[in-house]
Amino acid sequence: MSTIYLSKKNLFHNLDKALSIVKEKSKLAPVLKDNAYGHGLVEMASLLKEYGVSKAVVITCDDAEKIKDFFPYIIVLADTVNASYSHDFHIAINGIEQLDELPANTNIHINCDTGMHRNGIRPDQLESCIRGAHERKLNITGIFTHFASSYMVTESFITQNEIYSVCCEKAKKLCEKLSLPVPSVHSCNTSALFRAKNFTDDFARLGSGMYGYCTYGKGLKNPDLKPVLSLETNLISSRILKKGQKIGYGETYEAKEDMQVGTYDIGYAQGFPRVDETKIYHTPDNYRLLGRVSMDYVSLDTNEKKVILFNNVSGLAALHKTITIQITCSLSPFLKRIIIE
Ligand SMILES: *Cc1c(COP(=O)(O)O)cnc(C)c1O
Repeated sequence: MSTIYLSKKNLFHNLDKALSIVKEKSKLAPVLKDNAYGHGLVEMASLLKEYGVSKAVVITCDDAEKIKDFFPYIIVLADTVNASYSHDFHIAINGIEQLDELPANTNIHINCDTGMHRNGIRPDQLESCIRGAHERKLNITGIFTHFASSYMVTESFITQNEIYSVCCEKAKKLCEKLSLPVPSVHSCNTSALFRAKNFTDDFARLGSGMYGYCTYGKGLKNPDLKPVLSLETNLISSRILKKGQKIGYGETYEAKEDMQVGTYDIGYAQGFPRVDETKIYHTPDNYRLLGRVSMDYVSLDTNEKKVILFNNVSGLAALHKTITIQITCSLSPFLKRIIIE
């Protein structure tokens, strides 16, 4: 089976870059949702613990359970069954009606919809949300928001920041008035963090940048990050393709002369996106992918025993007109993951 390698050196490089902005390791809350963007939940958790990170962000309580021994502080972004857990995770409130579903003493982070209009309460609901949480004996441990366009120069990023500041102020004042502990505040994902001029939040939710990816639009400078993940495939069989012979489904690649070809053990079932005859992909060692990607195989113009299929998914993402992390997120959880220095 193909193997995913996780570079500790590159991960720590990316974390160092984020740390230079937030200043303290306790202000890093790495996002480990969706099997750590395909990198491997437990593998990434162990590396982050080694680095000295104490917080993590996931989508479900199930995922939080899997990594609870690594981090004392875990935020659960969007579970739908959180009432059934007795725990000390921090549950995001994505709508005011969610308050009724949570047992007393649950830690909550109130998500403020400052303009993305995906999840969260409206700013005008903030006061009733805080009062409602207090009445239900929920612990308000955080106030946060999420940006729609932090990777671009837009008016909305400024507006969202302004609304967020007002919400934080209001929440802090009201908590004080109700004699409640002051909640933590957090707003930055990767692209908001790496453009922050003055980081004042309690922590940042660092996702794609930690894995090595942050691509800005015009007018913003990409940070120096290094992809953590590479994918190595193994030779299954090899043959000489004679001039004029074709290879794979649809027989879309035809040999222009006699050539050495090899079949390797990865396909779209393991998350390597299907490439067809309209696209040309070269591996980092410049081997060419021949014909279509099958469910479990790809063909290359080599018979090397092992081939690195990618060590940076930017090229593949461009080929598929998608974003880098969609490629990593799609990698099968069944692939072996090995941590390298
Ligand atoms: C996924 C996610 C993040 C991380 O975003 P990146 O751009 O990958 O850093 C942060 N906050 C929320 C609410 C998210 O859903």
